[in-house]
Amino acid sequence: MTFGGEVKNELCRAGLSRKCCAQAEAYGVLLYCNTFCGSEIRIVTEHEAFAQRLPALFRKAFRLSFDRLPEGEGKRVFSIQAPDKLRLIHQTYGVDPEALALHINFAALEEPCCRAAFFRGAFLSGGSVTDPRKGYHLELATSHRSVSREMLALLREEEFAPKDADRKGNSVIYFKQSEYIEDFLTAIGAPVAAMDVMTAKLEKDLRGSVNRRVNCDAANLDKVVEAAQGQLEAIRRLERSGRLETLPDKLQEAARLRAAHPEDTLAQLAEQCSPPVTKSALNHRLRKLVELGGQVEDI
Ligand SMILES: [Zn+2]
Repeated sequence: MTFGGEVKNELCRAGLSRKCCAQAEAYGVLLYCNTFCGSEIRIVTEHEAFAQRLPALFRKAFRLSFDRLPEGEGKRVFSIQAPDKLRLIHQTYGVDPEALALHINFAALEEPCCRAAFFRGAFLSGGSVTDPRKGYHLELATSHRSVSREMLALLREEEFAPKDADRKGNSVIYFKQSEYIEDFLTAIGAPVAAMDVMTAKLEKDLRGSVNRRVNCDAANLDKVVEAAQGQLEAIRRLERSGRLETLPDKLQEAARLRAAHPEDTLAQLAEQCSPPVTKSALNHRLRKLVELGGQVEDI
């Protein structure tokens, strides 16, 4: 199952205990479903758990059933055409069945519990979300332009910062930031999915920082190797010219250690001195060798 499918599974486990919330959720479903007009309601879904939830949701919200329950698997169509049922639903939300455009009736969504249920219904009906391991994208799509505009305002009131776009005749509201997707999923009743988004983000950030560190280490390593090569070159010159054995013991020791361990770090070499010295003391000696090596005429 896709990540989006799992999110919907989790949402469909939310209880249907309050009538106010059931009505709000059904409202979200209707405004984001395939057809919600004066003469018909048509909700089409392929999602098993959502198909199970719909009849229970409408029973709780309106005490009514769909005209015909779909059978079998795959695409399921739930529809209502009976005028008395449609009238009851329109009245519940104060919808004028003759009006040209649908609007969100904010009065039906005053309670915070109902708002969350409304968003959940909209997502179940017209929402989708990308697997967070592939990218961050959550959207709500409806054919009702004014509904989308008002949904945007409603979400902003709840301190989300969604963006909007038109796509193939649909109005789309979407989130691209993982934090908003997490918050939205948590708010509408999918905290487990929200946690998945957070985990995916953490893993991605961690991989990024490891990569940065590896790159940085590689750059440092290059510098170390470069420095060691310069030291080795100087030591060879001093040796060939016979100057090395005239140098103080400390410098001779540093030269011997570097020549014997070309790939050791300063810290590793410093430990091998007898007695061991600090990194900076050894660094000082190696620099001195490089300086002296530079003074030697090529032979
Ligand atoms: Zn409520």
